[in-house]
Amino acid sequence: MSAKYIFVTGGVVSSLGKGLAAASIGCLLESRGLKVNLMKFDPYLNVDPGTMSPFQHGEVFVTDDGAETDLDLGHYERFTHAKLSRDNNWTTGRIYEQIITKERRGDYLGKTVQVIPHVTNEIKAAMKKVAQDVDVAIVEVGGTVGDIESLPFMEAIRQMRQELGREHTLFVHVTLVPFIAAAQELKTKPTQHSVKELLSIGIQPDILLCRTDRFLSKDIKGKIALFCNVEEEAVITAKDVASIYEVPVVFSHEGVDTLVLRYLRLEAKDRDLSKWEDIVHRVYNPKAEVTIGIVGKYVEYEDSYKSLKEALVHGALAHNLKLQVNWIEAEGLETGDRTYEEQLADYDGILVPGGFGKRGIEGMLIAIRYAREKKVPYFGICLGMQTACIEFARNVCGLAEANSSEFDPATPHRVIYKLRELRGVEELGGTMRLGAWPCKIEPGTLAHKIYGQLEISERHRHRYEFNREYEGTLTAGGLKISGSTPDGTYVEMIELPDHPHFIGCQFHPEFKSKPLEPHPLFKSFVGAAYEHGLKRRAEKAAAEVEMFHRPEKAGKR
Ligand code: GLN
Repeated sequence: MSAKYIFVTGGVVSSLGKGLAAASIGCLLESRGLKVNLMKFDPYLNVDPGTMSPFQHGEVFVTDDGAETDLDLGHYERFTHAKLSRDNNWTTGRIYEQIITKERRGDYLGKTVQVIPHVTNEIKAAMKKVAQDVDVAIVEVGGTVGDIESLPFMEAIRQMRQELGREHTLFVHVTLVPFIAAAQELKTKPTQHSVKELLSIGIQPDILLCRTDRFLSKDIKGKIALFCNVEEEAVITAKDVASIYEVPVVFSHEGVDTLVLRYLRLEAKDRDLSKWEDIVHRVYNPKAEVTIGIVGKYVEYEDSYKSLKEALVHGALAHNLKLQVNWIEAEGLETGDRTYEEQLADYDGILVPGGFGKRGIEGMLIAIRYAREKKVPYFGICLGMQTACIEFARNVCGLAEANSSEFDPATPHRVIYKLRELRGVEELGGTMRLGAWPCKIEPGTLAHKIYGQLEISERHRHRYEFNREYEGTLTAGGLKISGSTPDGTYVEMIELPDHPHFIGCQFHPEFKSKPLEPHPLFKSFVGAAYEHGLKRRAEKAAAEVEMFHRPEKAGKR
C-alpha cells in the first residue's frame, strides 16, 4: 500500500508550534500502531542551517548521518520512532543546488528550467522518498502562508492532492485564535484570512489546529467551520500547555487521530498513549526540584539549545524531579557585580554546553574550576569537554597557558587543536566532524557505569579535538580518558575519578535523548545533581543553625 501524506502548514504568525504539531500527530499515529516518517521543508535559501547564527536560526539539530538540520527534526525524533537523515530536511537552497547541478550536467536536455514543473517535481520527489515503507508521511512546510519564498512548496503539496486524491492527502493548517482582552473575546478573523490565503493558492485545509490560550466554545468552532469551509469537528483547540509533552495528549482529547484516520481512510488499532500520559503525570507531580546552571554565551536565546534543555528535562523526569534551569552568562562570571562564588553557589549541577568562538571561555573555565574543586556535579558537552581539559591542564597540571588553538592559535600548549584531517580546510560550511561515530568506553569508569555497555554511538558537531600529546600529562594529573573512537584516534569522553560526577564528552548526547528514553548521561547527571543538592542544602541549614547558636565560632570556620 502506498503511503498517505499529511501536509502541515502555518498561518497568521510564525512560532505557533507547527513542528510540535507535526511531531504530536506523528506520536498519536504511532500510538495507533501506524508507522510514520516526518520531514520539513525550510523555504530559506541557505543550503542548510549549519552556518547560520544560533540567534537567527536556533539550534542546529544533527542527525546520525551528519546532516545539519532544523530544530523541528529534534521534535520529530523525540516524539516518534522515525529515523531521520538528510532526506528529512530540505531548504530551498538545497533544492536549487540539486537543480542547478543537473542543469549544468545537461540533464534537462536543453529545456527551459522552471519553478513549475522542475522545482515542484524536485520537491515532490523529496516527499516521495521519505514516504517509502511507512503508512503516513508527515510533511511540514516552514514559514507562514503568504510568504513569497514558500510558494513552490505550497504548489508542490497542492499538486500532491491533485495527483493522489483526497484519501491519500490531508491538509492540516496551524493558525492562531487570539483572545483580545479589550473585547474579552476570542477572535476568528486572523484564521479566516489565513485560510483565504491558502485557498487563493488552491489549498482547502481539512483540519485547523487553532492555537489559543483557552478552549474554543462550540459557537466559535461553528463560526470558524462555516467561514473556513471545514467540518466543525475539524476545528481543533490547540491550547497552550505548560509542557510540550502534553500536546499529543491534548490532541487526543480533541480527537485529532480519529479525524486523521477517518479522512485518510486508514484502519488502525485503538490508541495507547499511556506512556505519554505517564510523562504528563510526572511533569505535574514532581517529588522535588533540581537546579542546574548552564554556563554559555548564547544565554539570551534559549532556542539555540533546544535539545539540551529537553534532554535535561528528560533526565529530571526520569527521577520524578522538576527541572529548574538557569542560564549563566559566561562573561558575567569574570566581570559581574557578584563574585563567581556567589553566582554559582546555588546550583546542584553545572553544565557547559557546546559552542563556538572565544567569547566567554574564561568564564566557563572559572565555572569548571569551581565545580571541580567544590565537587559539584559537572557535565561538559563538546566545548564543555574541551574547556574542562583546558581548565585541568592549567590549574592542576601547571600549564598556565594551555588553551585550544580555536581561542588562541599561538598557545604554547594546544591541549585542544584542530582535527588533523581537516587542517587547511578554509570554508566554513560542512567542514566539521559530523554525525554518529562509534566510541569505546574504558571498563570500570563512571562512563561505563552510566551507559552499562562498552560500545556506544553518539552524534558529533565540532572541528577541534583533544590533543593526545597531552594525554600523559593530564592523566598523570588525575584526569581519566574514559571513551575513545575504536581506532584510538579521537578522545570522546573524559572524567575525574576523584570527583563524585565530573564528565565531559566530545559528542552531543542531547540529540539522542527522548522523554520516553532519557539519555543515560543526562539521567545520571541530573540524579547526581539532585543528590548534591540534598547535601548542599543540609550543610547550609546546619551552618545556619551553628551561626545562630555560636556566631563567633561559625564565622571563623
Ligand atoms: N568550538 C568547538 C569545536 O569546534 C566545540 C564545538 C561544539 O561545542 N559543538 O570543536
